[in-house]
Amino acid sequence: MSHELAARVDRVEPSATLALGNAANALRAEGVDVVDLSVGEPDFPTPQPIVDAAKAALDAGHTGYTTSAGIMPLRAAIVDKLATDGIEATPEEIIVTPGGKQALYEIFQAYIDDGDEVVLLDPAWVSYEAMAKLAGADLTRVDTAPYAFQLAPALDDLAAAVSDATKLLVLNSPSNPTGAVYSAEALAGVRDLAVDHDFMVLSDEIYDRITYGAEVTSMGAVSGMADRTITLNGFSKAYAMTGWRLGYVHAPTGIIDAAKKVHSHSVSCAVNFVQHAGVTALTETDAAVEEMRAAFEHRRDLLAGWFDELGVDVPIGDGAFYMMVPVAPDDAAWCTTAIEEAHVAMVPGSAFGAPGYARLSYAASAERLREGLDRLVDADLL
Ligand code: PMP
Repeated sequence: MSHELAARVDRVEPSATLALGNAANALRAEGVDVVDLSVGEPDFPTPQPIVDAAKAALDAGHTGYTTSAGIMPLRAAIVDKLATDGIEATPEEIIVTPGGKQALYEIFQAYIDDGDEVVLLDPAWVSYEAMAKLAGADLTRVDTAPYAFQLAPALDDLAAAVSDATKLLVLNSPSNPTGAVYSAEALAGVRDLAVDHDFMVLSDEIYDRITYGAEVTSMGAVSGMADRTITLNGFSKAYAMTGWRLGYVHAPTGIIDAAKKVHSHSVSCAVNFVQHAGVTALTETDAAVEEMRAAFEHRRDLLAGWFDELGVDVPIGDGAFYMMVPVAPDDAAWCTTAIEEAHVAMVPGSAFGAPGYARLSYAASAERLREGLDRLVDADLL
């Protein structure tokens, strides 16, 4: 009996963020009070109108398969949402997926071949690397850490890294793990490179409704980018719907049709009644979304003040609910000590391509955030 594995799985590591969460859970199971600042999900319940819509959809019998690409009312609502971002889309150019992650996976499988060059801006969310490698990509990485994680000052480095061999650049604004929101000027710079070298941009806008005074520019709305952009989004973050598994992707016809094949042969469709709830999320929850956004902003401002008082120089972003805290050259060892001795869970920056940092998620109450910092200070970790 041979248990020899496919080479592609050897190219990737299990998700570092989930691993940290598991370590925190294990300690918790032993009765330890862990301040978990490692999680990538809002600490709010899903807004009630969305829950009610799902219940109503169940009662109405929406429990079978749907059209593979997703129910038309949801794709129509997504078309409207994209229009508000300046992206012209048709329902045929959209796939509704069980989570944004699945949408990314389908795009990588459909668009990236062995040896294709994919460019990431570091620090980058852990799954881009894994999905690119599963598809056989060669990765080129451009580090934004020297520029406080901003894109505009890193454009020269990006220009030096890309070439006619580049097939895809992945952008994520607001960014996980830095919180950075890229300016319209920076995106125009990316557009110039994409046009010059004829590559596509995958724009992951899953945090686009969680911003603090910053304007999010959609890459697909930048002049000249409509046919060059694949736009990804999802319901997990803005609507506190991580466990529902709902996301979507918009791409030009040829690419979306190829991704539809992967979609139909893997997941068939997103969950029927969850899709119905998604329509409500997009159309009836502005007040709840704003309440959560405001809570995140308040915590970000508190943390910025506290780090300032501690004399720790943390680049503060204008979106998402993360910040990258400079910790120690060996960030993995620092995170291990933090969880074992201070019982504070954070994710090593090296998992995102940013050694020396640890990602702090402020999807936690102000009290828990303060408690976390106090414990890190007491353990001489800050
Ligand atoms: N993109 C980014 C940047 C993320 O942080 C996440 C979730 N951690 C996702 C995509 C995927 O989220 P989901 O599959 O829950 O939609």
